[in-house]
Amino acid sequence: MSTSQKVRPAWIEIDLDQLHRNFALIRADLPANLRFLMVVKDNAYGHGAVEIAQAAINAGACMLGTVTVDEALQLRQNGISTPILVMGERTDAELAECIAHNLTPCINDVHTAAKLAKLAEQQRRQVDFHIEVDTGMSRYGVRWSKAAAVIAELNQITSLRLQGVMSHFAMSDELDKTFANQQLQRFEDMLAQLTARNISIPTRHMCNTGGFLDLPHAHFDMVRLGILPLGVYPSVVCRRIAGIAPIMAVKTRIAAIQELAIGDSVGYGMCYTAEKPHRLAVLPIGYGDGYPRVRNQGEVLIHGQRARIIGGNAMDAMMVDLSAMPQAQRWDEVVLQGKQGNDEISVHDIAKLKDTVSYDVLSGWRERLPRVYQTEGERP
Ligand SMILES: *Cc1c(COP(=O)(O)O)cnc(C)c1O
Repeated sequence: MSTSQKVRPAWIEIDLDQLHRNFALIRADLPANLRFLMVVKDNAYGHGAVEIAQAAINAGACMLGTVTVDEALQLRQNGISTPILVMGERTDAELAECIAHNLTPCINDVHTAAKLAKLAEQQRRQVDFHIEVDTGMSRYGVRWSKAAAVIAELNQITSLRLQGVMSHFAMSDELDKTFANQQLQRFEDMLAQLTARNISIPTRHMCNTGGFLDLPHAHFDMVRLGILPLGVYPSVVCRRIAGIAPIMAVKTRIAAIQELAIGDSVGYGMCYTAEKPHRLAVLPIGYGDGYPRVRNQGEVLIHGQRARIIGGNAMDAMMVDLSAMPQAQRWDEVVLQGKQGNDEISVHDIAKLKDTVSYDVLSGWRERLPRVYQTEGERP
């Protein structure tokens, strides 16, 4: 642990050396000429958007990706001048901000394109944009069957520059690639229609991490990576790159130790009753920090061993059984997510507790847990 203000005995460690290694391994795996965009939406899945963006740029990311304009502005305010793709849909009111801060919005309809064009003309600017084609996810974008016509129309607006066309997979990381390949086929058909109209697109992109790993025939010019550089795989079945490892660990310290007598109950709702005398540790972290709300479920690592959560965890505290570690003392370090000794609690283990996915757990760790960025030499 470092830095003086971050004194709360519950924190998140981000291993910047491992991040650097992950990027190096991804770079080595990336086919020549394939560029990558680093998606840093939702605070880079809870890891800290600015820090992750800076590392990504150093590792060769040609572009950053956010979903809100505010996320993009945070990067600009921290001195990051790399192109930023703002994905999803923009309100008219957001368009001026995009121009003022040199953001590259996704524009998926004629009306919004006209608004953006007008603003660009007023400022005698040419503004870059990308367009999304919905190839089957039914989320953002122009439906594939209509996309070529819309793209041809938007491509004629002189104050705008169509820099990219993107699509997004609904299922890229499972073994069954049938639908992914169908989406790819729709995208390729649409691109062929553009070629027939003599329209060439500088940057065509379709793959997230799952697509990057498993759908090399869908790479096009650029891939959009979010979770992989953070060291987490989107599924258990997708391809592995040896050496990639998680960069986030969630830690706390034992804040108090209680001696339970037979019959004592633990926590809200009295979900646990001691059947023998034993010690428990109170950890100063709870569901208000992003840990799932659990009842007699979940484990943490103390002295390299697993300690069970007993009773119900609170917003700010949880109790764990110390029966297996008699040597444990107040202020000993505890790992909720990450490695200790030879054991590891993965983000997937925690995701199971609340029936969700790793993305949700990573981005669910709250702001009130300080992020501590570590590089070699600073590590304890
Ligand atoms: C979030 C997101 C990504 C990144 O997905 P990962 O699975 O984290 O790599 C890529 N593209 C779009 C459009 C996204 O919304």
